[in-house]
Amino acid sequence: MSADLLAPIVAATEKVMLTMAQTRATAGSPTLERPPGEAVSASIAFSGDIAGWLCLGFSEPGILSVVGNMFGEAPARLDDDVVDSTGELVNIICGEARRALSEQGLNITAGIPQTARGAQEPPQGAAAFVPFDTPDGALFLAVAVEGWTPEALVSPGAGNGEQASIWQPLELSCALHGQPKRFTAHGIQRQGRKAKPDLFLLPHVTDPAGGLPPVQYIAQEVFVCPGCLFASSEADYFAVDSAAFGPLHDSRETVSGRMKGKRLKGTLREIINQPARSVELAYTAYQLAIQSAEALLLTGHRAFAPERRRLPEYALRTALMHKARGDGEQEKRVLQYALKVLSKRLPALKGLAALQALYRIGAVEVYLGRDAEGSQRLQKLIARGSAQAKAAASSKEAAAVKRLLVQAKQLWDGRTEVRWSASPGRPDYAYFL
Ligand SMILES: [Zn+2]
Repeated sequence: MSADLLAPIVAATEKVMLTMAQTRATAGSPTLERPPGEAVSASIAFSGDIAGWLCLGFSEPGILSVVGNMFGEAPARLDDDVVDSTGELVNIICGEARRALSEQGLNITAGIPQTARGAQEPPQGAAAFVPFDTPDGALFLAVAVEGWTPEALVSPGAGNGEQASIWQPLELSCALHGQPKRFTAHGIQRQGRKAKPDLFLLPHVTDPAGGLPPVQYIAQEVFVCPGCLFASSEADYFAVDSAAFGPLHDSRETVSGRMKGKRLKGTLREIINQPARSVELAYTAYQLAIQSAEALLLTGHRAFAPERRRLPEYALRTALMHKARGDGEQEKRVLQYALKVLSKRLPALKGLAALQALYRIGAVEVYLGRDAEGSQRLQKLIARGSAQAKAAASSKEAAAVKRLLVQAKQLWDGRTEVRWSASPGRPDYAYFL
């Protein structure tokens, strides 16, 4: 049996919220405590290889916004139609989770969704909860499984005598194929993620409990379609809904044109299926991602807006891989490229995104030894950010701006040691502030 039953359900929720309700819902840490503020809930029972119950809870503003995203118009109040919509959502999420669980050899069948105003209790007794961070308000998931305590669900691997795995198989759809082209890749389980941004604001991932193997997050983050070599981050594979955006033929031809004749390091099979990639394979995957994003930039298809935004991150991570391979010349070249794409994007950015881009430009300049240019950028960021922290739309945004300001000031003061380091004696790598 799988060591982690929550992960596929959590991943299914994130995916369905994004594709059905255009809502980016990011899972927080699983907890034993019911999050507050539940105005409406929808549950579904399942049985088969495992039997249990899952339930979505929404705050009132949260569900009104989600239903507004689903149907194009925000309902004025929490009426019966809105309550019914939550039943549809939980049904689709359960269907997604069922597919993911069947890949782990667990077959389940689902019952009929039950909706309610207010909270629902699982027939199994106690549930584990997963809160989600969404732009518009509270959403959480409650899960109960027969034979599993909520504690065992929250801490997979602890108490059921099985070795927990940081990896989970993911079924992805390639956005560029006319027919949905599905393939399996390996992703990192949500519970393993504890991101701490580094010098260039790229997240580190570790296992909070410390019991799981080290994660080569950077090496894994890009997925490659075996059919057309379209490469993209996990989030963006899920984000592109070709049904909603119409035909993508032009994009497909542009991407495959650019991919033609690419010499790959490693076999396609290795690049696609390995749960953890070597630096060389990761390098190839990131090269493909940069090529894909650039090709999509040429097509200008709005379905791929999120992918284009990631180009600077792909470039910064590719630079890191050159560092890890000991190729300083290439590292510098790719950092120059990152500066170019960041500078090009900067005028179009607003708010936190603009500040982050300014910070990255400053950090790369300082890293490249161009202190004058770097200081100028960081000073500009500090001046702008202080005003923006006060005027921020939400307390969360204000906190993010403040964190960025602290990091920028440390870099500006020279209190941050500006270096990346590949960890010696390991086939993978890490990098530090
Ligand atoms: Zn494809």
